Amino acid sequence: MKAAPFDYVRVSSIDEVCQVLADSGEEARIIAGGQTLVPLMAMRLARPSLLIDINDVSELSGISVDGNDLVIKAGTRQADALASDIVKSNVPLLADALSHVGHTQTRNRGTVGGSLVNADPSAEIPLIAQTLDAVIVARSTRGDRTIPVNEFLESAMATTLAPDECLVEAHFPIWASKNTGFGFHEVSIRDSDFALAAAAAQVTLNRKGNCEKLNVAIGGASPAALRLTIVEEELVGTDLGDDAIKAACAKIGDLIDPQADVHADAAYRGRVAKVMAGRAICDSRDRAKGVLQ
Ligand SMILES: Cc1cc2nc3c(=O)[nH]c(=O)nc-3n(C[C@H](O)[C@H](O)[C@H](O)COP(=O)(O)OP(=O)(O)OC[C@H]3O[C@@H](n4cnc5c(N)ncnc54)[C@H](O)[C@@H]3O)c2cc1C
Repeated sequence: MKAAPFDYVRVSSIDEVCQVLADSGEEARIIAGGQTLVPLMAMRLARPSLLIDINDVSELSGISVDGNDLVIKAGTRQADALASDIVKSNVPLLADALSHVGHTQTRNRGTVGGSLVNADPSAEIPLIAQTLDAVIVARSTRGDRTIPVNEFLESAMATTLAPDECLVEAHFPIWASKNTGFGFHEVSIRDSDFALAAAAAQVTLNRKGNCEKLNVAIGGASPAALRLTIVEEELVGTDLGDDAIKAACAKIGDLIDPQADVHADAAYRGRVAKVMAGRAICDSRDRAKGVLQ
């Protein structure tokens, strides 16, 4: 199938993106890497009247540290984020997860912002954003808006970004403590396919080796990446023993809403999510203790 007819404009600044969005109404769509939007258009599941190409907007590309945040501009290629020493040394959980996003070819075009706006329930970048309480910055002709990621990710393939807003950057908090470790696990049918279920965790231990802070989230088992607050509350203050982790993760059944599809039934997805969550927490504990690299 071929895409329905559309107009096309290639812009060179964020101001220009915002002006075109403001002038053209809800049928206009930004195109970044095109890795999701182009197939959707080819299948006529998306029919934008106007494509606004942001690939020449240099101010939408780059990775930096600002205070306690790793800041990734929306148009940064996933491959550049994966190769970045700044990402690896400040938010290694994100670096690890990025290696699971699609294939080399899709990462070479796909952008960090495109993945966040696309909000696939199984996508790794939204999952890490949810795990770490990332903050999204959006811009329109009305000004900038700062959105905590749990208010940004609304449902499957849906965010609270307004039709006239451009996602400009994402801020990922940096956990400064040396006694911090991360874990990421996913199951997919083939390497680099979207995950059936995935989990990410980050933990900081106190001097006694007990859990001082734990963030854990799962993807693929609910409409949007989901923080497991019940598990966090149950495990903070404990020594993160294997049995305690398993018991806490067994309780997430009421929180999740896994869907059946051609790849897996709902019950299997739910079981995988629990196991992935447990493994991610175990790895984060072991990295914090220095027994896992
Ligand atoms: C074969 C294949 C395998 C894949 N596997 C995975 C995987 O395992 N995990 C995974 O997470 N993803 C996977 N993907 C998706 C891939 O990561 C996409 O790159 C990503 O979902 C969309 O990024 P993009 O830059 O290509 O966005 P586009 O396709 O250009 O756009 C996607 C959506 O975001 C909007 N958008 C983009 N940028 C902005 C912006 N700055 N502001 C406002 N709106 C914006 C667009 O209007 C559109 O609605 C896969 C894709 C393919 C083709």
